Amino acid sequence: MTPQPNPQVGAAVKAADRAHVFHSWSAQELIDPLAVAGADGSYFWDYDGNRYLDFTSGLVFTNIGYQHPKVVAAIQEQAASLTTFAPAFAVEARSEAARLIAERTPGDLDKIFFTNGGAEAVENATRMARLHTGRPKVLSAYRSYHGATSTAINLTGDPRRWPSDQGAAGVVHFWAPFLYRSPFYAETEQQECERALQHLEDTIAFEGPATIAAVILETVPGTAGIMTPPPGYLQGVRELCDRHGIVFILDEVMAGFGRTGKWFAADHYDVVPDLMTFAKGVNSGYVPLGGVAISGAIADTFGKRPYPGGLTYSGHPLACAAAVATINVMAEERVVENAAHLGETLIGPALRELAERHPSVGEVRGLGMFWALELVKNKETREPLTPYNAAGEANAPMAAFGAAAKKNGLWPFINMNRTHVVPPCNITEAEAKEGLAALDEALTVADGYTA
Ligand code: PMP
Repeated sequence: MTPQPNPQVGAAVKAADRAHVFHSWSAQELIDPLAVAGADGSYFWDYDGNRYLDFTSGLVFTNIGYQHPKVVAAIQEQAASLTTFAPAFAVEARSEAARLIAERTPGDLDKIFFTNGGAEAVENATRMARLHTGRPKVLSAYRSYHGATSTAINLTGDPRRWPSDQGAAGVVHFWAPFLYRSPFYAETEQQECERALQHLEDTIAFEGPATIAAVILETVPGTAGIMTPPPGYLQGVRELCDRHGIVFILDEVMAGFGRTGKWFAADHYDVVPDLMTFAKGVNSGYVPLGGVAISGAIADTFGKRPYPGGLTYSGHPLACAAAVATINVMAEERVVENAAHLGETLIGPALRELAERHPSVGEVRGLGMFWALELVKNKETREPLTPYNAAGEANAPMAAFGAAAKKNGLWPFINMNRTHVVPPCNITEAEAKEGLAALDEALTVADGYTA
């Protein structure tokens, strides 16, 4: 429903926010958060009556858009019948959510450990891997994001790790494939794949296989730039892990639940991890929920021996009721199929066409409703439109691009020199076209910074 404009209320909401809310990832005095009056489907509104098409899906979590009536109703019904209950009991919403998730996860990932979000899922997956193997180290990729809690931020391979890095005990980073900015000086996907696998094999050999509990990778790294892995890479990592008794963890917190046009991104690459983390799309973020899907072998480790980890709100009934309703909506309304179809037939081709016309677009990558545009100063040199980890004035080109998009009613996802096109997976064709037209205009502003 469209909310009524009410600038006075908006100003009060904003004033209280600025007085008392301490925001994530922000210099508190330098931010100017938009006061949001309401949201519906693929849109949200501010208190001045401006409408924005959300090409960010929140933080890439509203896979079925905002305020889906069936999910809202399911949360209301759960609140009316059993709002909360402790984790050590069997509760209908929790059991049903686990069943629906396990039915869709690949291979024998049939046991579900629930958390309140993605970072906790990563914390628990690494703990399970360490206890299962009795080994200390975890290998993770540069250009990755795994969350902001202690272990998860140490695993993260982007600059957000630096201030929190305590020497990253037990964490070793390696390079995953990324042809556009190849760490291996490769020129083809096949070369990139072979060299990345050789590099990981060498890393394992030099770290000592018997000291490595797990390799963790985002199936398609999200926040770091939606780098779809070359064919054969993930299978190669699976083989290396099998050869050395290393647990293979895929982090599908962002890529899971329809985002890539399949239930899980792993389904595109025909690979089954030992542990798979999820959150976000599992219930479109309506109530905080995440989890780890666990293979039979790792679940068996904790068959007779207790698992030493848990959370007060593990599998919270409200969050699980929202997950049950979301998964059912996704199946009934063919949301995953929509993401695949519109990604392949409309968004992908349209973005590639934009890349041909705009000098600022260096590369387009992605699949489903999961796309990145790499904005550059110069297509030949591939120099990013803003320097790596730019802040303040250095980030002016991306800020100007973002402001132009918002002026045209499009809320874009911006990270470093990239914009990600990650709308709700149930976006309509008309909405997608509207957003692409606004993006086209905003890119003209970015073009002004090319040389
Ligand atoms: N893993 C991945 C791949 C993510 O994208 C994120 C969040 N962007 C996380 C983990 C952390 O999730 P949360 O913010 O829910 O802790």
